[in-house]
Amino acid sequence: MDYDHFFRQSLQALRHEGRYRVFAELERRAGRFPRALRYPAPGRKPVEVTVWCSNDYLGMGQHPAVLEAMRRAVDRYGAGAGGTRNISGTHHATVELEAELAQLHGKEAALVFTSGYVANQAALGTLAGRLPGCVVLSDALNHASMIHGIRDSRAEKRIFAHSDPADLDRLLSGYPRDQAKIVAFESVYSMDGDIAPIGALAEVAARHGALTYLDEVHAVGMYGAHGAGVAERDHVAGRIDVIEGTLGKAFGVLGGYIAGSAALVDFVRSNASSFIFTTALPPAVAAAATAALRLLKGDEGRALRARHQERAHTLMRRLAEAGLPVMPSQSHIVPVLVGNAALCKAISDKLLDDHAIYVQPINYPTVPRGTERLRFTPTPLHGNDEIEHLVASLSTVWRALKAEAGQFVPA
Ligand SMILES: *Cc1c(COP(=O)(O)O)cnc(C)c1O
Repeated sequence: MDYDHFFRQSLQALRHEGRYRVFAELERRAGRFPRALRYPAPGRKPVEVTVWCSNDYLGMGQHPAVLEAMRRAVDRYGAGAGGTRNISGTHHATVELEAELAQLHGKEAALVFTSGYVANQAALGTLAGRLPGCVVLSDALNHASMIHGIRDSRAEKRIFAHSDPADLDRLLSGYPRDQAKIVAFESVYSMDGDIAPIGALAEVAARHGALTYLDEVHAVGMYGAHGAGVAERDHVAGRIDVIEGTLGKAFGVLGGYIAGSAALVDFVRSNASSFIFTTALPPAVAAAATAALRLLKGDEGRALRARHQERAHTLMRRLAEAGLPVMPSQSHIVPVLVGNAALCKAISDKLLDDHAIYVQPINYPTVPRGTERLRFTPTPLHGNDEIEHLVASLSTVWRALKAEAGQFVPA
């Protein structure tokens, strides 16, 4: 077989559909965020752009306290963890981070993984795979990492209508109360920016004797009085059995975790292959995450969260005033509907090349076909000037490309 021929053909098909992924080569500059240097074609000088699609939602990736914690940890502990948690990687810094995470979420224990993706895959794979006769009730819009974990578990899976407690109730009614069940869902859905009715879903789950598993990846650091997420904001964290989060988005570093009862967390620690057989996070990463967590728990965190929400609302309002189709969002995520993969990519390219604005097009399979969009994530560090520049630039590009859109969109 001509393997490369196969690979090239398959890639060509992706290009043809307008969903071949092109990465923008950037250089984040500590202290300059949301500005970054963009490296265009080889041989051309890098130019400064404004990043509008970072998941470093609060700028913790450059916060002086976080950088200082990381620097000090590197000097003290060196670069890597030196092994798996079992063999040689359970560092004091990681244990300290886990205690901090458990406390943040009001749970008995927490366990850190090398990413949020791995946390979901490992925890759901282990829980659903090892609870006898377990059935998983999974929200229709759950993230790929949860789907991966559920698939790995080989447990029976039922999909309930997105954020719909009545549909969850209907499905759960088909199983005996004493059968093991997990209800898996997210708090903030990162593509539409909607927020799940956590309390209502948890109430249905409790009525049917199901465990609740909540992905708060797009909420930790950003919601609740201490930044523990939407469950904290809505005062329902006590009704969630497992809270899963990331250290890579609002906490600005890398890694993922679960928090729950001591027995459940120990069970995952003792059985999850992708936890056991992989090198632990570098201690400096753990130390930096702990610093970000502590900072966001307090007054500075509360001020950043208030400013974050205000920035998102201001951007939504300004886009709507400019007549741009901003999608309704209940969170800090600001999606603008384009509805066509090629047009979405063309708008993104033009914003980057002509206006020094970086926003990645979001196409299928991340979102359904026909709902392709630009997804803006304003941070507390995006100023009014940057918002006005974005709204003016997007309006210009939008008009120009829509005018010639015959080549892109069916009328
Ligand atoms: C990004 C994301 C993850 C994975 O977290 P990482 O730390 O980036 O691996 C999990 N769940 C959701 C909903 C996400 O958007």
